[in-house]
Amino acid sequence: MKSSTDKARDTIKKELKSKPLESIIDEIIEEKLNHDPSILGQGNYFEIPDKLVMFYKYSYGGQSRFFSELKEHAELYGSKCLSCGILHFPPRTHCSECYSETKWQKVSNEGIVLSSTTSWYATSDFFDKVPYAVGYIKPIDADTGILQRIDLVGREIIEPGTKVTAKFKEKRKGVVSDFWYEIKV
Ligand SMILES: [Zn+2]
Repeated sequence: MKSSTDKARDTIKKELKSKPLESIIDEIIEEKLNHDPSILGQGNYFEIPDKLVMFYKYSYGGQSRFFSELKEHAELYGSKCLSCGILHFPPRTHCSECYSETKWQKVSNEGIVLSSTTSWYATSDFFDKVPYAVGYIKPIDADTGILQRIDLVGREIIEPGTKVTAKFKEKRKGVVSDFWYEIKV
């Protein structure tokens, strides 16, 4: 039998599939206005629910190439320390061990799970992925790991050392959720 949390999640999943998030937000605001038209805040000031939409850009700075390679070529880039040779993934502009500069270097799509935890809850991006795991994955040729989502492929627990492969969304935006890892079966 499904728990009330499962039922609530199913309802939200259905809603998100049937209409855009924007109209769901409008309905929530409308409902709040209809059921609670005189909301009094601190100091008895009259307050009404509303929304604020903002358009803005932000910069990835020294990490830019990681995101542009991900978006344009579905490739993962780390950075290699010019002094001690550590291959950092995710990339760093300067080495965390010796503070020297680094250079960009492509890393393997094949990785190893260092640690992970399974999640039964999700934000709207991942409703249909539940349950999924989040873990630290080290590409086989890198020296450090990245925190990323792992597709469980029917499993519930992932042991450290499990082999995974990077998978990429077809339509990529240049964000970290453009890729994830999947257990190799
Ligand atoms: Zn170094």
